[in-house]
Amino acid sequence: MELLTILLFGVDFFLFSAFLYFAFESFREQEKRAMKNGLTGAALTLIPAILLLLPRFQIVVFCLFIVVGIFCLLLLIPVSPNKKALKGAKGYLAGKAKRFDERDSVFARYRSLIPGTEQYNTFYTEIYPEKEKKDEKRRLKGFIGTPGKIDNQYQPNVAMMEASFSIPQDLGYYAFNDPDPDVPVADLSPEKATLIVKNLAKHIGADLVGITKIDPHLIYSNRGEIHYDTQKEWGQEIKDLPPYAVVMVTEMNHGHVISAPHTPTVAESAHLYAKGAYMTTLLAKWFSCMGYGGIAEHTRNYNILLPPLAVDAGLGEVGRQGYLVAPYFGARVRIFAVLTDMPLIPDKPISLGVEEFCQKCKKCADSCPSKSIPQGEKVIHNGFEKWKLDEDSCFDYWSKVGTDCSICMAICPFSRPNTLLHKFVRLFVARSKIAQILFPSIDNFLYGKRWHPKKVAPWIDYRDNRHQTHKDEIY
Ligand code: SF4
Ligand code: SF4
Repeated sequence: MELLTILLFGVDFFLFSAFLYFAFESFREQEKRAMKNGLTGAALTLIPAILLLLPRFQIVVFCLFIVVGIFCLLLLIPVSPNKKALKGAKGYLAGKAKRFDERDSVFARYRSLIPGTEQYNTFYTEIYPEKEKKDEKRRLKGFIGTPGKIDNQYQPNVAMMEASFSIPQDLGYYAFNDPDPDVPVADLSPEKATLIVKNLAKHIGADLVGITKIDPHLIYSNRGEIHYDTQKEWGQEIKDLPPYAVVMVTEMNHGHVISAPHTPTVAESAHLYAKGAYMTTLLAKWFSCMGYGGIAEHTRNYNILLPPLAVDAGLGEVGRQGYLVAPYFGARVRIFAVLTDMPLIPDKPISLGVEEFCQKCKKCADSCPSKSIPQGEKVIHNGFEKWKLDEDSCFDYWSKVGTDCSICMAICPFSRPNTLLHKFVRLFVARSKIAQILFPSIDNFLYGKRWHPKKVAPWIDYRDNRHQTHKDEIY
């Protein structure tokens, strides 16, 4: 057998193995369509193998593989990193930035504004009178509707959610930590302090850690949430925060998220909110014991917009659906932070190709049941260029299903498990213009465009509850 023929057989065998590997990973991820496509691809590689046995057709196989080779070479042409992404949140400044008012968030409006209170009257008479009618109607549905409604309030999962959410509530009292007056200010260089802080954060549960100097544009203008007996603080300007933020990202379990919008996903979100409250409270206290201030930013105490803060700390880019898209985990993450005045070394923002990929992808927008994610271009909002999510309609859907939905997080191609296959894809998306242009369409072809909830492990399987009244009519 000629050397060329052996070589062509080798290439064909490599393609066969690659398709089989793709099918295997897709099977593990319960991506049926992708698995079928992988198996079909593997079967198709048998055709060149047969043709290679017929000397007259070897030239056809040769030409075919040359085309495949050219495509692979084109993928290797590097693209310059996204200059805007490399500047972090500032890269998307487009005019005069306005700080976000926490009072206007859906959580603050529906959770903290109680009809008849002074805050309620102030908000709807002096600040946003145009919102009163619509909000009144929405308020009648309750804060987040009936927890776990989509799964007939499947008790084990709803209880997991409620148990987890009780933890940040308890830890929120300890969010603000002044320097401990009984200890000396630790004598550490910023390099050494950064080394300790980052490793401590990982040791206590963070999957990714980054540090940034706080951009004042990202600080909420006014306090809007009332979690404790703090009505007097409502509406106060938020100022005098320390200059550094240690931003921590935790990965959401893929096996839970694939059930979106069912209860395993909200049980996992709540679990990470509990974990984030623990991590941030501990780290904030550590700063205090080192003679510095520490403020824990978690679900019972937010002073700052976390997704752009994470971008500034070098932990990813913000995608079309408004979530942080992080390395390794994509949108399948939760963000927490500790603010401190301990001098630390900031990280630099990174470019992952997310903005370029999102331009073409739109999978989250296509699958969003409430059509809250824009299909079009970015707009200028509060002085920043962004894809503007409709938080109200998104929140409305949450109350319809009684979970935090998370379909847009689950369907995002960046959120797939961090296997060798997806590591390769992410690598190319970050470095190759051709990948940024072609991969969204290839992804749609291989995996399909629409979201379908997948099976979960038996211990969180909400479908045990179906014999009751549940019909999966909501999604
Ligand atoms: S969480 Fe659900 S409803 Fe909200 S934007 Fe994402 S997909 Fe849409
Ligand atoms: S699903 Fe697509 S468009 Fe949406 S955030 Fe992910 S990559 Fe971007």
